[in-house]
Amino acid sequence: MIDNQAILQTLWEIENSLQALAATGYRGFDCTGDSLGRLERWGKGRESFTETLDSIRADLGDCRRCKLASGRNRIVFGDGSPKAKLMFIGEGPGFEEDRTGQPFVGAAGQLLTRIIEAIKLTRDQVYICNIIKCRPPGNRNPEPDEIETCFPFLARQIAAIQPEFIIALGTFAARTLLGTTTSISRLRGRFHEYKGIRVVPTYHPAYLLRNPDKKRDVWEDMKMLMKEYRYED
Ligand code: URA
Repeated sequence: MIDNQAILQTLWEIENSLQALAATGYRGFDCTGDSLGRLERWGKGRESFTETLDSIRADLGDCRRCKLASGRNRIVFGDGSPKAKLMFIGEGPGFEEDRTGQPFVGAAGQLLTRIIEAIKLTRDQVYICNIIKCRPPGNRNPEPDEIETCFPFLARQIAAIQPEFIIALGTFAARTLLGTTTSISRLRGRFHEYKGIRVVPTYHPAYLLRNPDKKRDVWEDMKMLMKEYRYED
């Protein structure tokens, strides 16, 4: 006999699960041979189900999930080592980033490169990305609905990379990662935590270009990081 109550209960659970996935940014399922193969092998051995940056990029596709899509030229996904121990997260693409599809390549990006070199690393050894992946019109601040739509993809990038440290560049990165409205000047100067990853909030390089006297504070934050960062020989 068919148990209608049990079927309804199962459908309700499936609906809830799909809604939870949708809320974290999923818009469909990857049915490539690779993924189906992984499902087939599931439970039959030790296998990690962590996503790769490539699969997250593929899921993002030609994203039209928020209103920034209509004004952007290129999606700026992120750049650097997929195994980076250190991630830099900025606010959102500017003019040069929108033109090239690469993060932090304009004037602020050149200063960020110098900061990375000052801590004895290269851009290839770290991973650089932003809270939002499309340039807001006229470089305005990201709006809450844009951050809410885009952040799940960044959260998945962080989960795929599993860095030991994140440097949150500026107010939007720090506030979004740490779930607070506290100002960057109060957040900086000490370690915070995002899902077990140590977070160093500091001033955004674009802000440093306008306020060079704040470079001293950023250098203090970088020295704090360097004391804890395990450099490979
Ligand atoms: N500012 C940002 O926050 N991100 C970039 O990629 C460039 C400038």
